[in-house]
Amino acid sequence: MNIKIGCHLSVSGGYENMGKTALSIGADTFQFFTRNPRGGSFKAPTDEDIAKLNALMAENSFAPIIAHAPYTLNPCAADDAIRAYTKDTMAADLKILDNIPNALYNFHPGCHVSQGVEVGIEKTADTLNDILKRSSRTIVLIETMAGKGSEIGKTFEEVRAIIDRVDDSSRVGVCLDTCHVHDAGYDISGDPYGVLDEFNRVIGLYRLRAIHLNDSKNPLGAHKDRHEKIGDGYLTLDGIIKIVSHPVVSKLPICLETPNELDGYAREIALIRDAVKSL
Ligand code: FE
Ligand code: FE
Ligand code: ZN
Repeated sequence: MNIKIGCHLSVSGGYENMGKTALSIGADTFQFFTRNPRGGSFKAPTDEDIAKLNALMAENSFAPIIAHAPYTLNPCAADDAIRAYTKDTMAADLKILDNIPNALYNFHPGCHVSQGVEVGIEKTADTLNDILKRSSRTIVLIETMAGKGSEIGKTFEEVRAIIDRVDDSSRVGVCLDTCHVHDAGYDISGDPYGVLDEFNRVIGLYRLRAIHLNDSKNPLGAHKDRHEKIGDGYLTLDGIIKIVSHPVVSKLPICLETPNELDGYAREIALIRDAVKSL
């Protein structure tokens, strides 16, 4: 079994540089924050930098890459000014990503704070409707969340409810984060087939476009969201390999967000590739 796997990289050296870094650690996809996740200045990539990355990805048969929206945004914020800023930022990111073939844009559906889940779902869907109209082709992914605080998107039903309120959902997909769904109470490592059947029943597996592959520092249903290195947490190495070998998962871009530097990521990529090679 051949999989497409990579990890989270820093955008600070530019776009082509991320492609080169990915190659150097045996990756054929990667993820990056479109901007400093803690806010601050933003430098748009040049057309030349993007063209070089596109060429590198084509030459090396990369899977679609994942751009991650800054997690400081809140698509369902109660404050209209914060929500307008969130929309403008996401729309601007999508305009850039429209120049990268098959790029995926992953975002956290947000925290409703004290508005309640229903209002949160409405507002996040409204944000999606706005940003989809202001961009042309990039697929936007709702990330499954752990259910920390007032996060929405902690159940497959909540994710489905957001999608159902989008006018044109043809560009909406889902990114399943293995640590998050485990922390949300889905036994993804013990029973990956059962959890993915449930995903299919509630959302539809055709919506699943990417995987965030992480172990978890906390037990099933902890609602914590603390990522762990592969094999060092509650999902276990066996559990992780079972997930990756699922016939649907194994065909998707898989991205590590484990607490690692580059050498650690390289080891995890090699470990997982080796484990599924003979399958
Ligand atoms: Fe995320
Ligand atoms: Fe994630
Ligand atoms: Zn997380």
